[in-house]
Amino acid sequence: MELKSVPGIGDKTASSLERSGISSVEDLLQIYPRTYRHFQASNTVELRPGNWVVLQGKLSRPVSKRTTRTTTQIATFTDIQGSVLLRWFNMPYLARSLSPSALYQVKGQVSEFNGRLQLVSPQLSPVVDGTVLANQLVPIYSTRDGIKPWVLRQKITQALSHVQLPPDPLPADIIHKYRLLAYERALRSIHQPISPAELETAIRRLAFQELYGLQLQAMLSRKSRRQQVEKLRIDQAMVDSFVATLPFQLTPSQQSAIQEILTDLQQSQAMSRLLQGDVGSGKTVIAVAAAIAVHSAGFRTVVMAPTQILANQLYANFTALCSPFNLTVSLMTSQAKGSHESHIIVGTQAVLNLSDLDRIGLVIIDEQHRFGVAQRDQIGRKSHEPHLLQMTATPIPRSVAQTLFHHLNVTRLTELPQNRLVTKTYLVPPVKRDSAYTWIRQEILTNNNQVFVVVPLIEEAEENDTAPLKSVQAYSAAIHQLFPGISVDIMHGRMKEAEKSAAMDRFKSGLTQILVATSMIEVGIDIPEANIIVIEDAERFGLAQLHQLRGRVGRGGKQGYCLLFSQASSPKARERLAYFIREHDGERLAVFDLRSRGPGELFGTIQSGFFNLKLGSLYDTELLHDTYQAAKDTLAKTPG
Ligand code: ADP
Ligand code: MG
Repeated sequence: MELKSVPGIGDKTASSLERSGISSVEDLLQIYPRTYRHFQASNTVELRPGNWVVLQGKLSRPVSKRTTRTTTQIATFTDIQGSVLLRWFNMPYLARSLSPSALYQVKGQVSEFNGRLQLVSPQLSPVVDGTVLANQLVPIYSTRDGIKPWVLRQKITQALSHVQLPPDPLPADIIHKYRLLAYERALRSIHQPISPAELETAIRRLAFQELYGLQLQAMLSRKSRRQQVEKLRIDQAMVDSFVATLPFQLTPSQQSAIQEILTDLQQSQAMSRLLQGDVGSGKTVIAVAAAIAVHSAGFRTVVMAPTQILANQLYANFTALCSPFNLTVSLMTSQAKGSHESHIIVGTQAVLNLSDLDRIGLVIIDEQHRFGVAQRDQIGRKSHEPHLLQMTATPIPRSVAQTLFHHLNVTRLTELPQNRLVTKTYLVPPVKRDSAYTWIRQEILTNNNQVFVVVPLIEEAEENDTAPLKSVQAYSAAIHQLFPGISVDIMHGRMKEAEKSAAMDRFKSGLTQILVATSMIEVGIDIPEANIIVIEDAERFGLAQLHQLRGRVGRGGKQGYCLLFSQASSPKARERLAYFIREHDGERLAVFDLRSRGPGELFGTIQSGFFNLKLGSLYDTELLHDTYQAAKDTLAKTPG
């Protein structure tokens, strides 16, 4: 259905939505909230700082006070029990729009200021007939390609109330058998949940649909046969001499991974292999070994990375590791237009525009689960079909490997290099923040250590976040002050590619000591000299994501440190972080994330990344089992 059929979506909004990949009402409704905020129905005597509450009562006419740059509006809110202060900024018109005799619901976070409790920038809504004071769940959307979260929410709300929703894509017998919520109801409730229980059933229903679709696809593709390819005649001696040039001994699983790949490459069927190894397990050298093997047989290799920074890094690695051999390596990104004829071409998606596809024997895809067979085929269609090697740090449960990934052979790196020390992880209480900074300063000055600082957002606040969230800019300014004489740089997703690459280069070369960044640094970045990572508002990240972030340090054989800062006080959040501190296994962390998820907390599943899963999780054994069975039943009834 067309976006413009939604009242309030005109040409302008439609085209900005389209630019971010939302081209129909169906797409729009599948932009799910990042999380939800729970507002507790409360009264003025039960307020505690930090709580998110909804209250009902009357308020005094707001009084404006002017300070140098802002105006503040202050009102007193009164319910049967007592009163509390409300404060807004720069909303002078508020006084005119409120009626002092009317009843209102007030929603916001309680904070303390000069010893008095207050709500800052609370939301107000008039109490009309039928309004009851009850707990509320408010969805929070993420900014998406510059589209503000409240714009998304507004358009989604409009669509839900004015447009006929899409028909249920699941067969009726499946809905019945697995007691699933109807599609329409699930969509309404994920965007406008009434209760946590209902929200959970909605999420389960939508996750079911997602995984069911994948299971069907996987089963149908089972039938398509692998293409025949010309057998490669690999010179094992060349691969051996490459391994001999490495400054370290390969781990046993690195060695067997290389052998497995070499065997695949010499078959008459195209290889489709997934190399899975936890962060820092050393996947890059295996990729280089594979490329050298392919080169020894007279073929070329294309290596594709999800971001320009990772492409630059891989290019540097490949160039250095291949330097003892007579191989040309080039870089192809939107910035770098390297030669199309090199033996090894490393790049971003830009490599898909390769003009010279002559003798490409292998395509390697690093850390990008959304890429895959389709991209291999895109390169392959123009030449003959190349072999495919995908690499990932995402742990893949065995059942998933056998069902959803049956078309891939999975190789696992089961150990980390021996020189690796377990990264020491600490949850730093607020009172120790200063001493943590003192320690970091010392590490930088005396041990030449480098530091990543990760903050959740680049903007000051997100929708419904009235608490001052850290932003990269504001935070790095504060860091500058805290660390005089130490150079601080920033990196976030809104910077231009060239700027990001430059910031990364400065950090890599040691010009910058502290890099303040968003979680965009989570994937793949390898800077052996950086051994400290500080993560702000750590409770906002999923454990799988925290694990990726922690994997950025302690890679060069030195002791790595991961310092978590968090103001979360809920037992659940504390428990999750406590588990993270003692657990270092990626798969167990991912499973814990799923199990300990609170109602509506979606972050645990989002970064399982594969296939771009929005709600379904590769670690949800029960749902995987059900959807597998359901897809089988469907195919048995209607083959094809
Ligand atoms: P990932 O698997 O996360 O992609 P990398 O390939 O980037 O990991 O390797 C991480 C670091 O470990 C690199 O600096 C690499 O040179 C080093 N490394 C790889 N294999 C070994 C090994 N067997 N022994 C010691 N260091 C290794
Ligand atoms: Mg890597």
